[in-house]
Amino acid sequence: MDRDKTEPDPSHHRNGIVGLLYGEFIDIINGKVRCSVSLADHALTVQKITSSPGQGKVVFDLNDCVGCRAFKGEDNADTGAYFSAYFYPFKRKWLSFGMARQRLEQCFRVALAQDPRANLEEAERWARAIRDASFRPLPRTDGVEYSELRRPCRIMVLLNPNSGRGQALSLFSTHIQRMLTEADAVPTLVITEHQNHAREIVREADLSQWDALVILSGDGLLFEVVNGLMEREDWEEAIQTPLGILPGGSGNALAASINRYSGAPALLGEELLVSCGFLLCKGLVSPLDLVSVHMASGQRFFSFLSLAWGFVADVDIESERYRQVGAARFLLGTLVRLASLRVYQGRLAFLPAHEEGTVEDRVEGVAASSFTRSSSTNSSFHSTSPPDSLSSSFCSAMSCGPVADPSPTHSTLCPEDSAPDDHTLNTLHNASNNAMKLLQAGSQTTSLVKGPPDSLLPPLDEPVPTHWTQVTEQGFILVLAMYQSFLSEDLLAAPEARSGDGCIHLYYVLEGVSRAALLRLFLAMERGTHMACECPQLVYRQVRALRLEPLSPQGAITVDGEQVEYGSIQAQIHGGLGKLISG
Ligand code: ADP
Ligand code: MG
Repeated sequence: MDRDKTEPDPSHHRNGIVGLLYGEFIDIINGKVRCSVSLADHALTVQKITSSPGQGKVVFDLNDCVGCRAFKGEDNADTGAYFSAYFYPFKRKWLSFGMARQRLEQCFRVALAQDPRANLEEAERWARAIRDASFRPLPRTDGVEYSELRRPCRIMVLLNPNSGRGQALSLFSTHIQRMLTEADAVPTLVITEHQNHAREIVREADLSQWDALVILSGDGLLFEVVNGLMEREDWEEAIQTPLGILPGGSGNALAASINRYSGAPALLGEELLVSCGFLLCKGLVSPLDLVSVHMASGQRFFSFLSLAWGFVADVDIESERYRQVGAARFLLGTLVRLASLRVYQGRLAFLPAHEEGTVEDRVEGVAASSFTRSSSTNSSFHSTSPPDSLSSSFCSAMSCGPVADPSPTHSTLCPEDSAPDDHTLNTLHNASNNAMKLLQAGSQTTSLVKGPPDSLLPPLDEPVPTHWTQVTEQGFILVLAMYQSFLSEDLLAAPEARSGDGCIHLYYVLEGVSRAALLRLFLAMERGTHMACECPQLVYRQVRALRLEPLSPQGAITVDGEQVEYGSIQAQIHGGLGKLISG
């Protein structure tokens, strides 16, 4: 009894239309009833044979399927064979309104013939066809070039046992291990023993042994992996190794971003982990932008997430002490820091990603900001605005006094100090030369990182090119450059960002903002609606390169959430230099 109406093996039609498979099997998990099972392009349809037509029919979306395998019965007397398909569809959470991916297994018994081998072959044919249909990506509309991980897929999972609340290992065994096996991915667990261990491991690893490097930790461990790869002689090839991230830390911004790019609803904690595990199993690989960062000491490194100065960097560092509360540490840190808000003096310049109009636009004050919607707001700019109406309880709790300025250098500054000159143009023409100089300077210090030349950046001790935009104001609350959408698991700082858009999404908040307005911005950031607050001190620009020169003697800069040396810093984006397993 062969009910197939199909072509021999749909796997020959990967890029064409998958042929339909049809069969009648026993559904082992749901009541051991006889079912008709049909496989179409993106759906597996199971219909109880006993029920009246239209009833007892369940349709499984193969986009939710991570794998399918065939096997013999455990009992030798059993001539039947089996195939199990593993789905992780979004389902409503118990006792809640939210949605999360939840595991669902479908197992069928095949008993078409007396011969157990023939049954196993048939089960294998189904398993292959289901796998094949499950890993055929839908046509993309976003124009991004995707590739797929091969199967079976050899994955090095680097796990930091101390990340987050110290539960990464149990998170792996509870949520990830089985899912990877179902998806025919073979994980090799590498548990890091100390800081920079992951960096050393990937610097020395034989990368031909691995199809992907995945980290289960916070963003900090991926920062090590990226830079370890960029320290290799073969960096150009090494950085093409697909990278994956599973959230196990307290700062899981890239994981939250990947979840967003896949079109899934915003998730936290273990639900985010399951969603990222699912995306890893699906194995779609897309370009990853990396930002080359240069420090005054000559150090160079690569960043995949963010560069922050002022408020955001302070929160990042200070909230380390609340890491026991997990991802909520950033919210807690934000409230604490709002209570003692600081203004930082410095200079900011950037190269816009898109052509910007006139020369006047290139010297940018808050009045020239494209997000200043009302000219009347400018008048209040230099005064510390009084707290506005928001949440008076929050405000009084944070004693809304004047904002502290830690900089004694404030009055000695002159904006003309940073004005570009003719010499800058030469600098631009010699950009690649300069990048080489910079690299040589870097090699005299501890920097081992290699990588492409930064053709947009002049040396840090020379002025920026004249076609860069210079911000004339010098009092900043924060400067935040983002190249992924989330700043932490629950802060959607750059809703427009995509992992391979070739763009740095630059935000800065100038002095003059009230605490209440700043709090409102951060509360709005949970949904990514902070630009809609129309805060006149908040500016958003899409840029390719930037330079930041802090003038306040004390402060902090973080890159990907890790503290780096404080001082002048500049950066340029390299679109699609790496590869990311995303959705
Ligand atoms: P979290 O988001 O919880 O901060 P991260 O992945 O960012 O987690 O890791 C925090 C820091 O811990 C990183 O700087 C990383 O280099 C370091 N680290 C990695 N492995 C270990 C280890 N075994 N013990 C201590 N620190 C480690
Ligand atoms: Mg971290």
